[in-house]
Amino acid sequence: FMGNKTEKAELGRATWRFLHTMMARFPENPTPHDRQSLHDFMMLFSRLYPCGECAVHFNKLLETYPPQTSSRLAASQWLCAMHNKVNERVHKPIYDCSDILSKYPCGCDDGEAEDIT
Ligand code: FAD
Repeated sequence: FMGNKTEKAELGRATWRFLHTMMARFPENPTPHDRQSLHDFMMLFSRLYPCGECAVHFNKLLETYPPQTSSRLAASQWLCAMHNKVNERVHKPIYDCSDILSKYPCGCDDGEAEDIT
């Protein structure tokens, strides 16, 4: 149905925005605890994402490409590549990941500019 498709797409857009913004704010030099948190977050996220078909597929992607948590750059590039895998599957254009960090500001007003450069 049309409604279903629209809602699935809206949920997808909002979720991707949140995930990319979270990666753009992940520490440049994460502690072991930061790294574990991101890893666990992504694994739980993929189990609980409320689109069954999407979650099953994303789970398989995570098995093949485990979350990269060693730095902000690694995490944001990894998620960009995962989003591109999904883009491929749903026949969306492939996105250029080269300047991903500047594309997802959070408006947090807490030294974001310094953090992102
Ligand atoms: P979206 O893919 O939602 O992207 C939003 C915006 O992000 C784009 O307009 C672009 O500016 C930017 N962007 C695009 N690619 C990237 C990238 N690689 N890195 C950073 N930014 C980028 N839909 C299905 O039909 N089947 C599925 O199996 C499916 N699996 C999904 C799994 C997950 C984890 C998520 C979050 C969503 C999934 N979706 C799935 C939804 C789908 O990915 C889209 O969100 C939805 O189709 C809306 O697409 P869109 O064209 O608005 O752009």
